[in-house]
Amino acid sequence: MVAAALSKSLGSQHISIRLVESEAIGTVGVGEATIPHIKYFNRLAGIDENEFLRNTSATFKLGIEFVNWRNIGDSYVHPFGPYGIDMQGVHFHHTWLRQKQKGTAKPVDEFSLPGLAAKAGKFQHPRPDLKSSPMATMDYAYQFDAALYGQLMRKVAQERGVKRTEGKIVKVKQNTENQNIESIELENGALISGDLFIDCSGFKGLLIEQTLKTGYEDWSHYLPCDRAVTRLSERLEELPPYTRATAKEAGWQWRIPLQSRTGNGYVYSSQFLSDDEALASLNKDLDTPAIAEAKLLRFKTGIRKKTWNKNVVAIGLAAGFLEPLESTSIHLIQSAIARLMTNWPDKSFNQPDIDYFNRKTQTEYEQVRDFLILHYCATKRNDSPFWDYCRTMDIPKSLEERIAIYKENARLYREDLELFSSVSWFAVFNGQNIEPKRYHPLADILDDEKLEIRMAELLRATKRCVEVMPSHEQYLKDLCASK
Ligand SMILES: Cc1cc2nc3c(=O)[nH]c(=O)nc-3n(C[C@H](O)[C@H](O)[C@H](O)COP(=O)(O)OP(=O)(O)OC[C@H]3O[C@@H](n4cnc5c(N)ncnc54)[C@H](O)[C@@H]3O)c2cc1C
Repeated sequence: MVAAALSKSLGSQHISIRLVESEAIGTVGVGEATIPHIKYFNRLAGIDENEFLRNTSATFKLGIEFVNWRNIGDSYVHPFGPYGIDMQGVHFHHTWLRQKQKGTAKPVDEFSLPGLAAKAGKFQHPRPDLKSSPMATMDYAYQFDAALYGQLMRKVAQERGVKRTEGKIVKVKQNTENQNIESIELENGALISGDLFIDCSGFKGLLIEQTLKTGYEDWSHYLPCDRAVTRLSERLEELPPYTRATAKEAGWQWRIPLQSRTGNGYVYSSQFLSDDEALASLNKDLDTPAIAEAKLLRFKTGIRKKTWNKNVVAIGLAAGFLEPLESTSIHLIQSAIARLMTNWPDKSFNQPDIDYFNRKTQTEYEQVRDFLILHYCATKRNDSPFWDYCRTMDIPKSLEERIAIYKENARLYREDLELFSSVSWFAVFNGQNIEPKRYHPLADILDDEKLEIRMAELLRATKRCVEVMPSHEQYLKDLCASK
């Protein structure tokens, strides 16, 4: 992704980009679900959507269904797109909360077009031209085979002049005065020198950690899951346009439907569950027969103390890790690329720019971290030691404040350019059954009768849009068949 994006934006006339990868080491081999922002990245990288769908076995994604997170037997959808429409200058959820307090509200999921379409197995592209329709504001992402996506990115990068070298890096040479990296040495003795090194070497952080010893901020006390056992299974008969995340005894299990197969994985905490128990539980809960052996992955949630250190920028798993509960890792890579382009250095490596980059990266990770923690700490589950820990653990002050404000008057403040919108925060607050005492006073402006009429109209319009949408399965088939 880095090579594809930089070669598009910076061109190959002024800078020379080298990509070093090792087939022998391979990639982490997971990472299939995304959030809507990936569309912008694909556009920036010059990827045609139909070609992308065909080449990566992709499906559309309208949100994530969270099952058993509040209590066993409960479920809710975090949809990509708003509920209803904002009225009287306040977010829709305030109006809905007013109706709820009156006792006349329908479940909020019924006001979400992407949420309803997801559960009905339907999809079509949004229609921004239909100004007053829910079709105008719905959004979507993709679920795809990350290995195939990587190959597509590699092809695009190479077509734009990036030189790829296959080989294992065995030595790193640093400048003796300033410790900047000067070159890397491959197993066959080849030396590759450079001005700027982008470390995308995965969890080990070959340059950022093994060479520069940058250090890691460990967040596993907030997010105690530290392992995942993953297994591919046969494709689902009707492809659902959403990811499912089911909370289990000591973590949660994902189900990600692709055109060719289904991705599954149990993310769990090794303090509370053994690897054998996790594998047995994953196998038991597969919806389709397994088609590959299971894989075990270990990780530590957190972030490098600096993701840019000297002339090394760490991107991807080398920079940090947040579990895939909200499918954010690929986005964090794409966002780091955008930030790197904004702060593109010259050879002087201006330290204030680097400090700014690091500060922004840290804030972005912390905001996503808080959003993930909310899913765990707002549980009512008390059926296992894992959930007892999550329900009672300390949480960051930043999240504590958000929860306190929401509980008081349902307000959701979006900190500068934070990734998740107030709609996403509301979906999880409400999905986890956190009840605010009050709502925004401006939601009272509409009189009762008008309120009921407007809400009923919204419900009807949303339902009607779902009825006329084609099935996701058919829509995808048609798109993949067309050029
Ligand atoms: C359990 C789990 C589930 C996930 N699910 C999602 C998800 O649903 N959505 C999402 O957005 N993200 C997800 N992710 C994250 C996602 O998988 C990664 O962000 C993504 O795959 C990028 O990984 P990477 O390129 O940083 O590292 P890797 O995939 O590990 O790639 C490292 C690269 O460095 C090369 N390399 C390493 N060492 C050397 C060396 N010595 N010499 C030469 N080359 C070397 C390797 O060959 C490889 O090409 C998940 C992660 C995990 C662990």
